[in-house]
Amino acid sequence: MKSIRFIAGNIIGSILTIKPVNKHRLKLFDNSGSILSVYFHNPNYHLFEQCVKWLVFNKFEFISLDEVAVLVETKKKVKTRKAVITLDDGWKDNLNNVLPVIEKYKIPVTIFISIAPVYDGNLWTQVFKNAISQKSDLIKKEEKKYKKIPEQRRLEIYNLLKQNTTLKRNIITIEELLLIVQNPLIYIGGHTFNHAMLNICTLKEQQFEIDDSKKHLEKIIGKQINYFAYPNGDYNDDSIQLVSKAGYRMAFTTKSVWLRPDKYNTPFILPRICIPNNLSFNEAKMRLLGML
Ligand SMILES: [Zn+2]
Repeated sequence: MKSIRFIAGNIIGSILTIKPVNKHRLKLFDNSGSILSVYFHNPNYHLFEQCVKWLVFNKFEFISLDEVAVLVETKKKVKTRKAVITLDDGWKDNLNNVLPVIEKYKIPVTIFISIAPVYDGNLWTQVFKNAISQKSDLIKKEEKKYKKIPEQRRLEIYNLLKQNTTLKRNIITIEELLLIVQNPLIYIGGHTFNHAMLNICTLKEQQFEIDDSKKHLEKIIGKQINYFAYPNGDYNDDSIQLVSKAGYRMAFTTKSVWLRPDKYNTPFILPRICIPNNLSFNEAKMRLLGML
């Protein structure tokens, strides 16, 4: 059953994106010379296909991150509508909900992968959320804001929690990762080793999460990785320097705005429009049109 939030959002979105508004916002988009950089986590099939259909209907050409990198590096303003789709984390359901759509419409996508969740089965944030909902005494009261726990302590708690978690696997396996790497439409990007909140990591921890994890993932998939996304959109000046030094060509935040040409000067903090899981399509449309 759909939530009230979903239904209300869908109705408001449909009113606010009526044809003339749609047209006006697309004109603004065209004049801005932006690239529509969009990202998902674990969308349902229906929402993902509706977004793709809307982009196709409005004559967006889907480009890969390699093509975006050339535009950014040569500081070329686009003249026709271009969209780039990325997905974070490598959710198992992407295999059923995203893959058939990108194959149907021939869309290149980049999936940003953190290594530990592929080994363990889940993101640590989910394991923590689950443990908190089950009132686990392994997490102290003051640690319920788990995204703020220092990395060393977080890893300690996580290593205990993961042994007893009741969660089923939500992230793709190594075998599935090796299979999707063979798909010519799928590129793999870096997303740290532990899905770490980089802004609260020490310099040494960041070095491991950004540089060492790049080499590790390249070894697993047997391909070079050129693009990076900051988990949770968290980074600091050290992260930007390390991403650049590690040899990445571009890195993405979670700042949910159009990728305008003035952002080309900062290739390691490029924005992406977020389409949250299970959002109604009309709200998603508002996001794509830069209205939210
Ligand atoms: Zn992530």
